[in-house]
Amino acid sequence: TKDDVKTFLKKNAFVLFTVGAVVIGIMLGFALRPYKMSYREVKYFAFPGELLMRMLQMLVLPLLVSSLITGMAALDSRASGKMGMRAVIYYMTTTFIAVFIGIIMVLIIHPGKGSKDEFTKQQKIEQVSPADAFLDLIRNMFPPNLVQACTQQFKTQYGKRVIQVKMIVNDSIFNLTNATQEITQEEIVPVSGTVNGVNALGLVVFSMCFGLIIGNMKEQGQALKEFFDSLNEAIMRLVAIIMWYAPIGILFLIAGKIVEMDDITEMGGQLGMYTITVIIGLLIHGIVVLPTLYFVITRKNPFIFITGLLQALITALGTSSSSATLPITFKCLEENNKVDKRVTRFVLPVGATINMDGTALYEALAAIFIAQVNNMDMNFGQIITISITATAASIGAAGIPQAGLVTMVIVLTSVGLPTDDITLIIAVDWFLDRLRTTTNVLGDSIGAGIVEFLSKDELENRDLEMGNSVVEE
Ligand code: ASP
Repeated sequence: TKDDVKTFLKKNAFVLFTVGAVVIGIMLGFALRPYKMSYREVKYFAFPGELLMRMLQMLVLPLLVSSLITGMAALDSRASGKMGMRAVIYYMTTTFIAVFIGIIMVLIIHPGKGSKDEFTKQQKIEQVSPADAFLDLIRNMFPPNLVQACTQQFKTQYGKRVIQVKMIVNDSIFNLTNATQEITQEEIVPVSGTVNGVNALGLVVFSMCFGLIIGNMKEQGQALKEFFDSLNEAIMRLVAIIMWYAPIGILFLIAGKIVEMDDITEMGGQLGMYTITVIIGLLIHGIVVLPTLYFVITRKNPFIFITGLLQALITALGTSSSSATLPITFKCLEENNKVDKRVTRFVLPVGATINMDGTALYEALAAIFIAQVNNMDMNFGQIITISITATAASIGAAGIPQAGLVTMVIVLTSVGLPTDDITLIIAVDWFLDRLRTTTNVLGDSIGAGIVEFLSKDELENRDLEMGNSVVEE
């Protein structure tokens, strides 16, 4: 009936706007391509998109800190320990499955047939040892200066140059995506943990510990707990406002990118096959594996769950940053999918920082593709090494555009592949980055759903203890 249609439209207005934005963005982008806008013109044109990116990034830091602190403080240490274990097991399992899918796909399809001469872009990138990168990952978990961790780009300590990522220096998306095409070697660049100058990993570790302690402090911790609770609430209200602007931003982000992208027809055969292989791998993981896992564990319909997430997934596609998407992911999970806040606050920020299925799949696949292009056969041991380092690289990659490309250096060096060859895949990375970011966000969200289901007991016990009603809102 008419009323049904009305309520449907009202309920799904955001999703409809957002989907519409993508469609219009793509059409507008292609319609404007023939005009061959200059770099400056594209930047002006896509300005509304840049604004969205900045608004979202603005909220990430306070959101991440306040939600982790309140999330941890809301549980006792036993409960959060159990929930944490479940989350970690989920992260590890799904990341390994993703890596496995990536490897199988690239071995079966074998997109790297032919010769390297087909590729044109070649530049020099310096090497970084995997050991240094690992140490760096751990090092970043403990920022010596918390204020600095919030504001400043931190540098790797071992002083080797990786890739200059202009993205971190000037934080607009255009620089982000273009930067990798004009690699220079001027800067020492962090391999891990930065979200636009924020050491996310360090803040995650600190906030978790801090929250846990506040939770254990009972009365004495009450004031802090209430402070962060209300900070969190206020930020989420800001998110609600930004969500109205999101479709406009996404429209221009997508249209702008389509206007400025390289000619697709120029893409060589191998690169085309490579792109297709990545897409198939990500689809298998996102549409088959993760939903199946969700269904098997919770016995609920995964596609209803995913529908609730649509806006977050599209934002991920538009921004290519799982961190920037985090505020929207929160909203979708808590409001549409009714996932318990104690779970989302705890699981989502950690997930956005370390759990990246799409990136892991991509890094393993790309490494073997580069081996294929070089006519190098990878033996079983090397493939195992790739799976391990790809997992580590995905943990270390920050949730910012094309971070995965930077951490790929670790994977390549670990098996003696030429790191210069990262440049072979740069031409398509901006596009594949969007798809793997979407997969990353999907993985985090399904994880929240699964952890909530598995943690029902702890959550209910806690409710009884606190005298809350067990009935969910
Ligand atoms: N852009 C991705 C993300 O934000 C990371 C990557 O480059 O793979 O999740």
